Amino acid sequence: MKTIIQSLALGALFALSSAASAANFRTVVIDAGHGGHDNGGQWGRVYEKHLALDTAYRLEAKLKAMGYQTVMTRRSDYFVSLPQRVAMGNRYRNSIFVCIHYNFTVNQEANGLETFYYNQEGQRLSQYVQSNLIRRTGTTDRKAKFARFFVLRNSKQPAILVEGGFVSNTTERNRMKSATFRDQLAQGIADGIQRYRRD
Ligand SMILES: [Zn+2]
Repeated sequence: MKTIIQSLALGALFALSSAASAANFRTVVIDAGHGGHDNGGQWGRVYEKHLALDTAYRLEAKLKAMGYQTVMTRRSDYFVSLPQRVAMGNRYRNSIFVCIHYNFTVNQEANGLETFYYNQEGQRLSQYVQSNLIRRTGTTDRKAKFARFFVLRNSKQPAILVEGGFVSNTTERNRMKSATFRDQLAQGIADGIQRYRRD
């Protein structure tokens, strides 16, 4: 009888700790997309890899000011493979994984922001981030969406991938060239993370 009670208590403890782990994170792993020979989306002299890194730095500063610990998967213009990025993120148990990208497509009309997720906690996080991104930037809402991206699939933590607009769209390209817009974007992501942690 005693062992049954003990194991029940232990079971309850495990259930509690696994439910709480997502909300108790203190580290945000920030993954600036592309880098080095991998430019990502490109239009003239506008490179996705540069925009993503700048936005990542802005996000890092905001999160630090809010008291979070941060890790960046790259800090300048060099190549990091997808498995290396995931491995870096998975080293931190109480963390979330946030990838920053800008979009590109042959259809120059395509526009708007979107946030991708794969796992369940990632879905919740992506919804908070997406709605706060739209609130901060006032741009087209392409919603939070499921995607089987390598980094999202292989992350052990709640993981999301933000697409901050289309390099291939003239209006959005001009907007993302401005530091003010990239700062709004970083603020929207930071707001979303904060709400996710609180709720
Ligand atoms: Zn990209």
